[in-house]
Amino acid sequence: MRTSVFLIACLIMSVGVSRSARADGLEAGVAVVEITPPKGYRMAGYYAERLNTGTHDPLNAKAVVFRQGDRRAALVFCDLVGIPAEVSRRARERAEKATGIPAVQIAVAATHSHTGPLYYGIMRTRFHTKAIAEHGRDLLEAIDYAEWLAERVSEAIAKAQAALAPVRLAAGVAQETRISFNRRFHMKDGTVRFNPGALNPEIVRPAGPIDPDVGIVMLYPPEGKSPIAGLTVFALHLDTVGGTEYSADYPNYLETDLRRAFGPKYVSLFGAGTCGDINHIDVKTKERAKTEAIAARLAETVRTAEPGLEPLTTPALAATSKLVRVPLQQYPDDEVADARSKQDRLGDAKLPFLDRVKAAKILDLQEHYPGKTVDLLVQAFRLGPELAIVTLPGEVFVEHGLAIKRASPFKTTLVVELANANPAYIPTRKAFIEGSYEIVNSRLAPGGGEQLVEAAVLLLKELDK
Ligand SMILES: [Zn+2]
Repeated sequence: MRTSVFLIACLIMSVGVSRSARADGLEAGVAVVEITPPKGYRMAGYYAERLNTGTHDPLNAKAVVFRQGDRRAALVFCDLVGIPAEVSRRARERAEKATGIPAVQIAVAATHSHTGPLYYGIMRTRFHTKAIAEHGRDLLEAIDYAEWLAERVSEAIAKAQAALAPVRLAAGVAQETRISFNRRFHMKDGTVRFNPGALNPEIVRPAGPIDPDVGIVMLYPPEGKSPIAGLTVFALHLDTVGGTEYSADYPNYLETDLRRAFGPKYVSLFGAGTCGDINHIDVKTKERAKTEAIAARLAETVRTAEPGLEPLTTPALAATSKLVRVPLQQYPDDEVADARSKQDRLGDAKLPFLDRVKAAKILDLQEHYPGKTVDLLVQAFRLGPELAIVTLPGEVFVEHGLAIKRASPFKTTLVVELANANPAYIPTRKAFIEGSYEIVNSRLAPGGGEQLVEAAVLLLKELDK
């Protein structure tokens, strides 16, 4: 497996913040650890059993550790469809043991690549148990990927910590309006539908906005002008490649493109913005945007913005978090029985799609979410008086991310979804009334998303003191 560590060096003295921050410069370390599963694993992202046939580009866990004085925090971005709470917990606890960074100050996020392994959740449980019943063991799972992943993520954090060195940061937000689209539409019959199809004459208008913000944090070496690593956060579903080969989707090409500008060792960290209802399909045309073209536009936006990013002259590292108790959807016995009757046909395309989605959701609630509530971790990281990063679990609707940024006291706030848990879609109260796929798929009761927003805003205000 390929493992690379990139050293970052430079020093900025802080002024005008707390005594300890003034005395200490900010340091950062970045590490990349490969997490590509063995060939032949089941692929994630859809309601069918599809098997991997090889690797288009490797999947990675990319970690960045920040340190200022005795304060430390870590963020890890994995080229995966999601991170279940159990794997995040294991990885963060191991990393805490190995590095001393408190587990709550570590975020493990997924980029939401739909071309990675299916290694958790109800579809995996069903396929896995069926395989064991038929063959005595699951021949498609050559390794316990969840366990292996927890170890690799922890390793990435430890390597990033070992690479800590003084660093200079610059950050900002650029605008990109060409590549992302709200995928929910008001239709002529009064309903709201997701992905109604290109040129569908029944479409009236989109049911929600996009988030054009491209949040950028660049890490520079001591004297050089070229960044050696950077975080890009953008709200656009990573489901543009398809097929049965492992791929990191458009962030793979984004890194290739940015390396052309910033050098071959540049590490591109990618955080999924709140893109639960955002994808790359433009219903005004039959043409489907290609992965490379999407990445090229995003890379162009990052490259153009980079020289004008604001230097972080007074770094002030801090991290805070809150476990938010969110109510889960409840189903009566007859609906649970109906879902059970469909449990062997969740991947059967002959059953109506939304029936399968609903059955899978009810079974997932029964088997993986005991109780009437779930505790979800919301984290906020401050890098300077004007720069903060929020992490949220799940596939969060774009409106929630926009609400956090609007209410944030920080000039620049990056909101990263799919961190530390994946309780599926996190719609808005408005979308729960409108219905359609994401609502059928969601586990949280209406209002759960708004609770996460409220918690995130409170954390940001706490960090703004
Ligand atoms: Zn998705």
